[in-house]
Amino acid sequence: MTRRRWIAECWDEATATLVGAQAEHMTRVLRAQPGMEADVVAGGHVFHAQVAAIAANEVRFNLIAELEADPAMPVTLVMAIYKFDHMEWAIEKATELGVAAIAPVIARRTEKHLAQAALKRAARWRRIVHEASQQARRCDVPIIFDPIPLATRIREAAEATRDDSGAACATSGFAQIVLAEQERTTTLRHALEEAVAAAETEMPTIEIAIGPEGGWAPEEEALFDANGWRAASLGPRILRAETAALAALAVVASYLE
Ligand code: SAM
Repeated sequence: MTRRRWIAECWDEATATLVGAQAEHMTRVLRAQPGMEADVVAGGHVFHAQVAAIAANEVRFNLIAELEADPAMPVTLVMAIYKFDHMEWAIEKATELGVAAIAPVIARRTEKHLAQAALKRAARWRRIVHEASQQARRCDVPIIFDPIPLATRIREAAEATRDDSGAACATSGFAQIVLAEQERTTTLRHALEEAVAAAETEMPTIEIAIGPEGGWAPEEEALFDANGWRAASLGPRILRAETAALAALAVVASYLE
């Protein structure tokens, strides 16, 4: 029988501890007892573990042996903020598909009230990825960055890839792709092939940007272009943002894994 998998909130080299709702579920619903076995994720590694001690709302495990674990795909989704329920569905599915991080961004066509509520909503998005990671038996939980304006995100990413003289260096292990439905020559698959070829031996780190329901504004497309992002298409049909997110991750998974 597959052992249940828990993602620990705190750990050291020999033990890992669940607290809060997870611990409560284990003690009250699953009636956990010392000796009970489980898989426990701690710091991006998975361990075969055994319950060592149970307190009010804390369950401590002894870590017995590290298990094989599949790392996340080296993909960050730069996701323009749009209707929260659709976006949260995409966040959950992207977690199941192995995304490493999600960077919610405020785009020009992000509705004002969603932009204002986003920072508070990020706590909920972090709960969603935690639960989806557990359900998908992942060995890690995707990072949810704090929502920031798209232009800030593009500028910060550009800064991160500049060399000490300040010149933008085409870091071979880093690819930035913006999904654009009007793009007609480059497919996502082709952009990935270029990124992997440029990365030579190492696996490239990939950022994929997906626009809001209203699409990218012209000045945003110009900003992507000026900062070296590669426009790529997912085909001739217009996809909802959540569909584009999943389709993009499926293409990356089929290519990288
Ligand atoms: N401009 C679209 C329209 O006319 O309805 C709305 C944008 S679409 C709902 C949301 C985002 O999904 C786009 O900004 C783009 O990033 C991505 N997207 C949708 N279809 C795509 C396609 N065929 N190729 C690449 N990206 C696509």
